[in-house]
Amino acid sequence: MNDLLKLSAVALRQQLQNKQCTSEEVTKAYIARIEQSRVLNAYVFDNFDKAIEQAKASDQRYAKGEALALDGLPLGIKDLFCTKDLRTTAASKILSNYVPPFESTVTQNLWNKGALCLGKLNMDEFAMGSTNQNSYWGPVISPWKKKSNPTQSLVPGGSSGGSSAAVSAHLCVAALGSDTGGSIRQPAAFCGLVGIKPTYGRCSRYGMVAFASSLDQAGPITRSVADAALILESISGYDLKDATTENKAVEQFSKNLNTNIKGLKVGVPYHLLEGLKPEIKANFEQSITWLKEAGAEVVDVTINLASYALATYYIIAPAEASSNLSRYDGLRYGVRIEGETLDDMYTRTRSDGFGEEVQRRILIGTYVLSSGFYDAYYSKAQKVRQAIKYEFKKAFESVDVICTPTTPSAAFGLDESPKDPVQMYLNDIFTVTANIAGLPAISVPSGLTSEELPLGFQIIGRHFDEQTILNAGLVIEQSAKFNLPFKEIF
Ligand code: GLN
Repeated sequence: MNDLLKLSAVALRQQLQNKQCTSEEVTKAYIARIEQSRVLNAYVFDNFDKAIEQAKASDQRYAKGEALALDGLPLGIKDLFCTKDLRTTAASKILSNYVPPFESTVTQNLWNKGALCLGKLNMDEFAMGSTNQNSYWGPVISPWKKKSNPTQSLVPGGSSGGSSAAVSAHLCVAALGSDTGGSIRQPAAFCGLVGIKPTYGRCSRYGMVAFASSLDQAGPITRSVADAALILESISGYDLKDATTENKAVEQFSKNLNTNIKGLKVGVPYHLLEGLKPEIKANFEQSITWLKEAGAEVVDVTINLASYALATYYIIAPAEASSNLSRYDGLRYGVRIEGETLDDMYTRTRSDGFGEEVQRRILIGTYVLSSGFYDAYYSKAQKVRQAIKYEFKKAFESVDVICTPTTPSAAFGLDESPKDPVQMYLNDIFTVTANIAGLPAISVPSGLTSEELPLGFQIIGRHFDEQTILNAGLVIEQSAKFNLPFKEIF
């Protein structure tokens, strides 16, 4: 195994700068490892030739002393982001033949800074799921194993499971994911990685296949907090093509990253943590102790309506999804199954093109938006959403960040996934609130379970205050001394 693959993005950037290695060399090493790790099913489309070409161009820029912020860094991109001339399917059969004629803004921002794309990463279909078992391209396997059962395949989390498996298995230096209800933070937690969902409006959604437009945000999944800061600042910013992006200068998160959290007011909503598994609770308390030792002040906060966030999410997200997914009608692009009449063609195309979970969400969404039920469900959910936002706003008058575990459990086996969809939705219990309120939130590895599986610590911040959660995340990272193991996969 090539030691270059063990480097974080920041460390690799430094080695490239110092001419200790070339981007071509490291890119080829990643490609070789991807080829040997197909069993994980992390990549769905490769972009190897172009990546090598881009790596050579990066090496020339280094030689001339003109290197860009992410020059020569080999990344993996969730298959949700449109990449020009490179297939983009959102892991759905209905888009299985789609090759975008344009590039998403966030990926374009990465390429503009010299990063290169190794390929597209597997995911749950249309980003709906928590285990990456809903992909048309098949499930992703985590590189992690339980100590007691090293032959059992574990889920990498979802929906950005290809991203978390790839970064954790050293199949790219960092990856782009998306988070509608937790899909960056939960897979990051399951795979011992850092994942940050920025404030709604921080990054452009242009060219990102839409799931629930008022909740979706792009963000990085990385091996360190410093990497997350570097990639986040590179993709952020106002975009004329997305009216929901905030026209605000982007701070230099990586430059301003520090562990000085003296006096930081940390809120813990203890009322939401009742019933936690002892192991999760103990790990969480340990992280809280680390924050205190670094000078933070911990207070109990109450966000009463947060207990309704999951129910609210599972009304609003399907409602928006049912509307967004109406564009896949077999007429304009994607797959078409011919029928005897126009209606028949629609039915066949959509019945055949969408998987089970996506059809379930469309049905729920259509139901909650239908006349007679709209007021009882959708309109009510919107009111609860506003009330939750307001409660967070109030809470942030007395605290600077709010912390919870990222997930109620560590990763589980593919064969242990809940069969009941509602049980599965409970995975998102701690993550959805940040999407509902549009707040930034980060997950940082905070330790291992007795099965030697990683756990994540979640820090939620004020709107557009990513810097504070990154800094607090850095304290956890340094205290936990969590080292991503290098795993032999084959
Ligand atoms: N697991 C959640 C869902 O299935 C969140 C998905 C996401 O964030 N994209 O909707």
